[in-house]
Amino acid sequence: MIKLQRSAKPGFLDHAKVIELTDKFIQTQDSVWNHQEIKRNLLSSSYEKCAYCECLLTEESKYMEVEHFRDKKHNPLLVVIWNNLLPACKRCNGKKGTHDVDVEPIVNPYDDDPSDHLYSKNYRLKPKTTEGSNTIDSLSLNDRERLVMARFDIGEKVQELVGTASERLESFINQPSMIRRNKLVDIVENLLKESQRRSEYAACTASVLIGDNEFQNIISEMKRLRLWDSSLDALYNEADSIKL
Ligand SMILES: [Zn+2]
Repeated sequence: MIKLQRSAKPGFLDHAKVIELTDKFIQTQDSVWNHQEIKRNLLSSSYEKCAYCECLLTEESKYMEVEHFRDKKHNPLLVVIWNNLLPACKRCNGKKGTHDVDVEPIVNPYDDDPSDHLYSKNYRLKPKTTEGSNTIDSLSLNDRERLVMARFDIGEKVQELVGTASERLESFINQPSMIRRNKLVDIVENLLKESQRRSEYAACTASVLIGDNEFQNIISEMKRLRLWDSSLDALYNEADSIKL
């Protein structure tokens, strides 16, 4: 889970429309929030990922659902209130169900910084706070099949590439050339690009990469050899800002 910024409320969702749709929901229980503009604006604010588990929502099997942070059973007046809506995958939306966040608060990535409440260890999320613990439990964020294994696969790939980057660094130090330099810079750049906000499971990938001592040694050496520039620094800072 990464910190997100809300996008602008869709233009059509003015005060009169909110009242009209809320009344309709109360009378008919229709999914009045299923509107293209609502979905589009929510998706763009989460880099097209589930706001909770960070799976990509563009894949057919994980299509996006409009999640109500304060659930619609206990809070029918909030069904189309913009700040109450999040983009979520079918799994997270289903797991959370009618969990009442006013009784057992959970992390809202649009309002809270997940890193204040969660940390990552062995591809699992661990709680720092009660809200963190409630978040992991209510959303089943350590679901082995769907989440831990997916994070593990990406994390293993990252560590393998860090090993290759080390070899490329050694090769450059032993026999400097432009080709060797470019190969080293390319692989480090690609590793950092996998750990940006828009990447799937970015919080976990960034935690693995930034927390890897071998990777930190590579960076120190690249700085010493003057191979580190402002674009790599910008990528590093974004990865560092989303790690858990
Ligand atoms: Zn999800």
